[in-house]
Amino acid sequence: MKAEDVQGDLTEVLFSKEEIEAKIAELAAAVDADYQGRDVLLVGVLKGAVMVMADLCRALQGQYPMDWMAVSSYGSGTKSSGVVRILKDLDTDLSGRDVLIVEDIIDSGLTLSWLRANLESRRAASVEVCALLRKPEAAKTAIDVKYVGWDIPNEFVVGYGLDYDEKYRNLDCIATLAPHVYA
Ligand code: 5GP
Ligand code: MG
Ligand code: MG
Repeated sequence: MKAEDVQGDLTEVLFSKEEIEAKIAELAAAVDADYQGRDVLLVGVLKGAVMVMADLCRALQGQYPMDWMAVSSYGSGTKSSGVVRILKDLDTDLSGRDVLIVEDIIDSGLTLSWLRANLESRRAASVEVCALLRKPEAAKTAIDVKYVGWDIPNEFVVGYGLDYDEKYRNLDCIATLAPHVYA
């Protein structure tokens, strides 16, 4: 789906399909350079990171096995609390493995901070993070994110895996959602 297919729902396209493709290639080159020759497991966080994972893993040059987790963040109202429930766990034993968490967006950072600690506790050799987007103004906890595509303002974005009410995930760009859609 393209921006013009849901034009009235969007206020601004932040990143086009082409810009995302170029950014993913940049991230992949950095990951390849850092992990050369190592056995790295990519861990995608469902469902938002599906597009990032699909494009990132194909832009990478080496062998990178992948696995998936689904987590749900318990919070009061709309806020992430950092208390996380695992809905789908990994199939892979992490002991001694280098792990790279692949994420769509870091907002408060609470979910990711929990996830990282959880994976580290499984005796992974290393746990790093690659996120396409980050909202620095929304950060509630400091997380060391090794690979970030773009820092964005504290606005709700959709597309390229990111949803509002399960919609707009299949939008090929990343855009801000018009306020009337929330109403
Ligand atoms: P955190 O624990 O960092 O606050 O929550 C991160 C999760 O909230 C993301 O993985 C994503 O699912 C969701 N999220 C945060 N910001 C946005 C946004 O701007 N748009 C969408 N669609 N989801 C978001
Ligand atoms: Mg996510
Ligand atoms: Mg969502």
